[in-house]
Amino acid sequence: MSRIYDRVALIGLGLIASSMFWAIKRAGLAGEVTGYARSAETRDTARRIGLCDRVCDTAAEAVQDADLVVLCVPVGAMEQVAREIAPALKPGATLSDVGSVKRAVIDAVGPHLPDDVFFVPAHPLAGTEHSGPESGFAELFDDRWCLLVPVPDTPQAPVAQLRELWQGMGALVEEMDAEHHDLVLAVTSHAPHLIAYTMVGVADDLRRVTDSEVIKYSAAGFRDFTRIAASDPTMWRDVFLNNKDATLEILGRFTEELFALQRAIRTGDGDHLHDYFTRTRAIRRGIIEAGQDTDAPDFGRQKVIK
Ligand code: NAP
Repeated sequence: MSRIYDRVALIGLGLIASSMFWAIKRAGLAGEVTGYARSAETRDTARRIGLCDRVCDTAAEAVQDADLVVLCVPVGAMEQVAREIAPALKPGATLSDVGSVKRAVIDAVGPHLPDDVFFVPAHPLAGTEHSGPESGFAELFDDRWCLLVPVPDTPQAPVAQLRELWQGMGALVEEMDAEHHDLVLAVTSHAPHLIAYTMVGVADDLRRVTDSEVIKYSAAGFRDFTRIAASDPTMWRDVFLNNKDATLEILGRFTEELFALQRAIRTGDGDHLHDYFTRTRAIRRGIIEAGQDTDAPDFGRQKVIK
C-alpha cells in the first residue's frame, strides 16, 4: 500500500487513535504521524510505547502542516478542540473525526473551521470496551465498516482520499448522511449499550440480596452485558447527550416490545415468544453471514484483543 497523506495528526490518543496509528504504520499510509493528548501522562505513555512518530505538547503544534487532522476525543470535547486547532490548520487540509455521533459533532465543529479546510466527518464501527493509548491494535478496523459523513458541498477529492486511508487501514467504507447515521447507530449501538448498562445495574442491585452469586454464576448472557457495560463512561455519557432524539425514539420502541413480551410471558403465549425469538435468531445469522462476527462459541474466556 502506498502513502496517502504526507502528514497526519491524531488529536486524542486513546483506543481509536492508537489503533489508527498502528494500522497506518502497518500499511505505510502516511509519511509522518503526529499526536497530541490532553494529559501529560497520556503523552508520556505514547512516547514510551512509540505511539506516533512525534508526540506534541499542544494540539496546535501537532496539526501544524498536517494534510489530515483526525479528532479522536470524546464527542463532548470536539468543539473545544476544534476551536483550539482551527487557526493552526494548513490551507487545503482535511479535518476529520471518529465520533460515534455525527449531527452534533458537525454542528459543533463546522462553524470553527476556516473556509479553506475540508471537513469530512467519519465513524469507524469498531471498538472494544478498553480505552487509552495502550489499548489500540492494528487489526481493529479489519473488515469493519467505516462510515463517511461528508458535509454538503465538500469536493470529491478529499472524501476519496480519506476513503482510501480507511480502506488502507482495513476498513470497508460507505457514505451516509448525518441523520441516518445517528438513527442507525441508535439501533445498533447506542440503545444496546444503554440496555446493557441498565441490566448490569439491576444485577448489581440484586447482588446485594444474593451476595456474590450474580458474579460467581454469571452465565454467558449476563457476561456479554458486563463487557459492554464496562465501556468508557465519558465516551458513553457524551454519546447519549448528543444523540438524544434517535436514542429516545429507539428506547420508546424497545419499551413497547418489552411490554409485549412481558404480557406473553404472563399469559403463557408461547407462540408469541417462539415466533419472536425465531425472528431475532435470523438477524444473528445475517450478521455472521455478513462477516461481522463468528459463530465460534466464546464464553468470555478467549482474549478479545489480538
Ligand atoms: P479513549 O480511549 O477514552 O481516548 C480519548 C482520548 O481523548 C484520550 O487521549 C484523552 O486524553 C482525550 N481527551 C478526552 N477528553 C478530552 C478533552 N476534553 N480535550 C482534549 N482531549 C481529550 O477514547 P476512544 O475510545 O479512542 O474514543 C475516541 C472517540 O472515538 C470518541 O468520540 C468515541 O465516540 C469514538 N469511537 C469510539 C469507539 C469505541 O468503541 N471506543 C468506536 C468508534 C468511535 P487523556 O488520555 O489525556 O485524558
